[in-house]
Amino acid sequence: MNRPRKRVREKEASPRKNEEAPIAAEVRASDEADLEETLWQLQSAINSSLNGIAMCDKKGTFIYVNQAFVTLWGFDEASQILGRSAISFLGSPGEITQVISQVLEHGNWSGEMSGRRRDGTHFDAQVYANSFMDRSGRLAGIRASFVDLTARKQMETALKESEKRYRELFQNMNSGVVVYEAFNNGDDFLIRDVNNAVEFIENVERQKIIGKPLTEVFPGVKQFGLLDVLQRVWRTGVPEQFAAAFYHDERHQGWRENRIYKIPPDQIVAVYDDITERKKTEEERERLQAQLLQAQKMESIGRLAGGVAHDFNNMLMVIIGYAEMALEQVDPADSFHALLEEIRTAALRSADITRQLLAFARKQTRSLMPLDLNETIEGILKMLRRLIGEDIEIAWLPGRNLWPVYMDPAQINQILANLCVNARDAISGGGKIVIETSRETLDETYCAANRGFRPGEYVTFVVSDNGCGMDRKTLDSIFEPFFTTKGVDKGTGLGMATVYGIVKQNNGFINVYSEPGVGTSVRIYLPRHEGEVAAMTENAVQDIPAGAGETILLVEDEVAILKMGRRILERLGYQVLTAGTPGKALDLARNYEGRIHLLLTDMIMPEMNGKDLAERVLAVHPDASVLYMSGYTAENVVHQGILEDGMDFIPKPFSLEILAAKVREILNRQQHG
Ligand code: ADP
Ligand code: MG
Repeated sequence: MNRPRKRVREKEASPRKNEEAPIAAEVRASDEADLEETLWQLQSAINSSLNGIAMCDKKGTFIYVNQAFVTLWGFDEASQILGRSAISFLGSPGEITQVISQVLEHGNWSGEMSGRRRDGTHFDAQVYANSFMDRSGRLAGIRASFVDLTARKQMETALKESEKRYRELFQNMNSGVVVYEAFNNGDDFLIRDVNNAVEFIENVERQKIIGKPLTEVFPGVKQFGLLDVLQRVWRTGVPEQFAAAFYHDERHQGWRENRIYKIPPDQIVAVYDDITERKKTEEERERLQAQLLQAQKMESIGRLAGGVAHDFNNMLMVIIGYAEMALEQVDPADSFHALLEEIRTAALRSADITRQLLAFARKQTRSLMPLDLNETIEGILKMLRRLIGEDIEIAWLPGRNLWPVYMDPAQINQILANLCVNARDAISGGGKIVIETSRETLDETYCAANRGFRPGEYVTFVVSDNGCGMDRKTLDSIFEPFFTTKGVDKGTGLGMATVYGIVKQNNGFINVYSEPGVGTSVRIYLPRHEGEVAAMTENAVQDIPAGAGETILLVEDEVAILKMGRRILERLGYQVLTAGTPGKALDLARNYEGRIHLLLTDMIMPEMNGKDLAERVLAVHPDASVLYMSGYTAENVVHQGILEDGMDFIPKPFSLEILAAKVREILNRQQHG
């Protein structure tokens, strides 16, 4: 024995155990020492093979197993296996018998078999078996090698599971996913795979589009811009976001948002979302916001115009009045008559323009009607939710048995939109807006404690938020037009001013409660509505009816109008007492000994309104009739709670004819009624 053999022996401890194995015996038949050495090396190689190797005789009894076989089957040494039948080690009894006869007959067999370990557990093995001869060429037995498939099987299963998981993920994603493969050198892309979302979003069947060029299936991609992006990503390998864009062709249209990346060498993946709904909601929100802004502007311009128009009206009335009186004194043949006529016509035309301005100013108040606030609010909740967006919840808590209010529903809409937008702006991140309604009776005590409130029955609605709230300083200024704490582009400062204007116009009140960092509650009080309000009728004007010396007490705080009114009425044949303030009028009335037939009074004056004045005058002169005049419209006045059903009213400016007719009509009624 030479050194190499010894060294191998020392190194390989276990092979020694198999030294007496048949293969060694067989080889030992050669007398040549070199051969013996070679054979020993071979045996050593076999023994150290990672594959299990075994030899059986023709009956299937083990005559050799290598160390890997021993380990694979869970034994400690070969001796525990040798001499035993392969049947108890491999497959089912029938199976192994079949394999043995197959090998003996055909020379070899390969396939998978299950191995039974010493502890009874099983494993899968890849088997290659063939027969071997003895030296005389007779069939001696079977040798076989075994590869443990456990690890490979596990890997395969894991791979399958992983594949299944990713497939499932791919299929069930909400986003559409398309896998493309570039062709024509990236000119176009074949659709290789799509997930369920693509079928759903594009309303196509997978089978009908897979394998086809993108531009054939979705021709709109060229204009859409997607093709360019795909080509770029394919060329550069740099992933791209393809932000919201509008896709359309004959069959589809809608907004899509894409993320595109490359899987080398030539696959491109597009993950995309159908954001059409989101876009629509966004667009609608922007539209509503713009509408609100427009309404705020209109409202403030209207107020401005209304204010100017009111003063202007008074002046026009003076011009018209004097022009008419002058016309009466000038001979129609005189050239002055035509000039005066021109002045009158121009003034009347101006009055028309003023009337339009006034109409514009009170644009919002045109369709007053008895309203159930709950119904009105319910009707606009959907719009409000769109205006506010999904991040903020709007809770609606309608109160029970509300009284009706008399209002224009569009104004309720405007108030709520303004309050909700403010609430939204005050909330950063998630938050909540609560809208509540209820009825409330304010008594004297409450009103004494709360400046500006009037006792009575009210319907209230509250908009509360859990936003940033306001400090005292902000709170004190919120109703000022153009007061805003928001950025130049964000706030107009007209929202709360608008709300205030509307509420005041409807004789209501506002109460704002706010704490910095906690939130804000804005409560609106609207007076309870009882009974219908009759529409005002305009009188037809015929000839100018003259007076019969009746006494008229004229009260008007605008001096020019007072003077002119007196001249008109005196010229018509009335006796006129004039007062520039309600106080003076009362003094006059109390000290006047004769009969006062008619009180002609302005509606809105400092100190006291026309109605209160009338009450006091009537206390002294119970037979007097009352005619109110006002530059404000009848509607407006009605809702300041002054003008009631059946009261006589003429709007300013009035012409000589209208005043004469109205005064005469009232006095005639008085005589006959
Ligand atoms: P704008 O909203 O355009 O600023 P507004 O008149 O609607 O004008 O509101 C005026 C200011 O009142 C706002 O800038 C804000 O400071 C304050 N404000 C109004 N409502 C709220 C609220 N719900 N929470 C906090 N601050 C508010
Ligand atoms: Mg606002």
